[in-house]
Amino acid sequence: MNRTVAILDRGIESSRDRWARKYLNYPGFPDGISARELRELGDKQASLYGVERVWDEVEDLRKSDEGFVAECGNGTYRAGAVVLAPGVVDGRPEVENAADFEGYDLHYCLLCDAYEMRGTGSPS
Ligand SMILES: Cc1cc2nc3c(=O)[nH]c(=O)nc-3n(C[C@H](O)[C@H](O)[C@H](O)COP(=O)(O)OP(=O)(O)OC[C@H]3O[C@@H](n4cnc5c(N)ncnc54)[C@H](O)[C@@H]3O)c2cc1C
Repeated sequence: MNRTVAILDRGIESSRDRWARKYLNYPGFPDGISARELRELGDKQASLYGVERVWDEVEDLRKSDEGFVAECGNGTYRAGAVVLAPGVVDGRPEVENAADFEGYDLHYCLLCDAYEMRGTGSPS
């Protein structure tokens, strides 16, 4: 529709899918695909349509007379419309060095992870 579009994203390292070694059952990828590869393909596809990719954190988002204003670490962006898709952040348990085990022995998502853990040991 010839709109000018920008994606503001602080990146995979602050997203929970940095732990997803392989996405399974994603349409179009019968053998699965890594989260990083899927993101790269999405970026490539978006760039074909002139989407501007901005690697930055949105620190503040507010309404203005013309639409919205997003304040980022490295700049200010104005838009008539905003689609919010910040994902979710897991609550880390108060266990020493919990971060070292995330994605290996410590999982948060029953739907995503339980299937992949079949046959790796019994929860006793
Ligand atoms: C371990 C694991 C395994 C999974 N396996 C599968 C699977 O096999 N199949 C499947 O279909 N799905 C799977 N999922 C689910 C899938 O990852 C999510 O459904 C999907 O990533 C959600 O997409 P999203 O765009 O809503 O959020 P995200 O992918 O989390 O993207 C949100 C983005 O917003 C950014 N962001 C947040 N706040 C800000 C801010 N203030 N400023 C700038 N950027 C910001 C984040 O950095 C992130 O890059 C899995 C998830 C996990 C954690």
